[in-house]
Amino acid sequence: MNVLIIGSGAREHAMCQCAVESEGVQRVFVAPGNGGTAMMGGPVCNVPLKVTALDDLLRFAEENAIDLTVVGSEAPLELGIVDLFRRAGKKIVGPAQEAASLESSKVFAKEFMRRHGIPTAGYHVFHDALSANAYIGLPETLFPQVIKASGLCAGKGVFIALDREQAMMANNALFEERIFGDAANEVVIEDFLQGEEASVFALTDGTRYRLFLPAQDHKRIGDGDTGKNTGGMGAYAPAPLVTSEVMQKVEERIIQPTLKGMRDDGYPYTGFLYVGLMIDRGEPFVVEYNARMGDPETQVVLPLLKSDFIAALQASVDGTLGEVPFEMYQKSAATVVIASAGYPDHYETGKAVALADELSAMKDCQVFHAGTAYEGGRLVTAGGRVFSVTALGDTLRESIDRAYSAVEKISFEGAYYRTDIGAKAL
Ligand code: ATP
Repeated sequence: MNVLIIGSGAREHAMCQCAVESEGVQRVFVAPGNGGTAMMGGPVCNVPLKVTALDDLLRFAEENAIDLTVVGSEAPLELGIVDLFRRAGKKIVGPAQEAASLESSKVFAKEFMRRHGIPTAGYHVFHDALSANAYIGLPETLFPQVIKASGLCAGKGVFIALDREQAMMANNALFEERIFGDAANEVVIEDFLQGEEASVFALTDGTRYRLFLPAQDHKRIGDGDTGKNTGGMGAYAPAPLVTSEVMQKVEERIIQPTLKGMRDDGYPYTGFLYVGLMIDRGEPFVVEYNARMGDPETQVVLPLLKSDFIAALQASVDGTLGEVPFEMYQKSAATVVIASAGYPDHYETGKAVALADELSAMKDCQVFHAGTAYEGGRLVTAGGRVFSVTALGDTLRESIDRAYSAVEKISFEGAYYRTDIGAKAL
């Protein structure tokens, strides 16, 4: 069987690693992939196609006898890659375009949750600065309020306004300065949820679903959750915050009604469903849905999957998800992201990377590449987040310590990482 993975991050590198370990997989193509997937060799091959070049990706899948395509990132889902592949009779893991609106339109997601009684923050939708500012000015509007562009903004379209002044500045930035263009034609203003965040991932065929272990991401650039938001600086799993009791509530109040609601509304949801949660004294609320796996959470969740990943994906497409094993290792995993100096703002690329020889012999460690390129036999940095270094351990402490000892074996000019990944859970 031949597999095509679409994306270029550490998430896709982790998927690739699972794919090469899957029984019956002959070739694994990654479009466009990164330096790490380029260096894997053997059955793995990078394909220089952009994730948004849908027609080219389909042509490639047809010409190379691809049996299963896996979409890593959100942009091709929003553009309708799943619909395109399905129309051509090609198997693909992901939601159809309308179902992917759960991620690509916050207004769609909030209205969906309201309609189906799924717990989430109270909210209002606005189409212009005047009415948004009028709402902000009401005496009954309590702060903080969270102001969000409805469309995809690569994680940057959310403002937490502590008072009226900050809220009005956010409204103006979205509606008047149009800093996110059409992605902010509609704006959601929602109540601030207290609690701790966690992420839960399901693989679904529209009706049945299987759950990965719950994870926790670290979004801020600095230790102690300080500084700017990033794509994610590290993660660990399982997150002890999501006890089996909380998980049961998540399944009954969120996952099952989401899948049923999507079927009832006429948009059966297939593929990966990522639920970003706020857990307040044991009660889960949805902060957001994503229509794909998270990065960096995938880099801890997949290494903990004991069962065959590609067999499970294939089953999700064939409607036989209930028939395949889906077991996890009884271990913990931590991943630490190494970024370029300056990220998430301006950073330089093209720095030579040195990976110590001992890395390959380190027990239960995997170095997933993100922003790297392999050029002329040389590995160089090519992005903001450069590596995601994962380690497994019998305890969370052990996995964190192992991940950090591996991080120390990777060097490039300006390498930056947080030193407190997972500390909150210890
Ligand atoms: P992502 O980068 O995950 O795609 P996004 O742009 O889709 O993010 P959200 O996940 O909705 O946006 O919000 C980003 C972050 O803002 C959340 O992870 C959370 O920390 C915070 N946040 C969002 N909504 C709320 C809320 N109602 N109450 C408290 N914090 C919130």
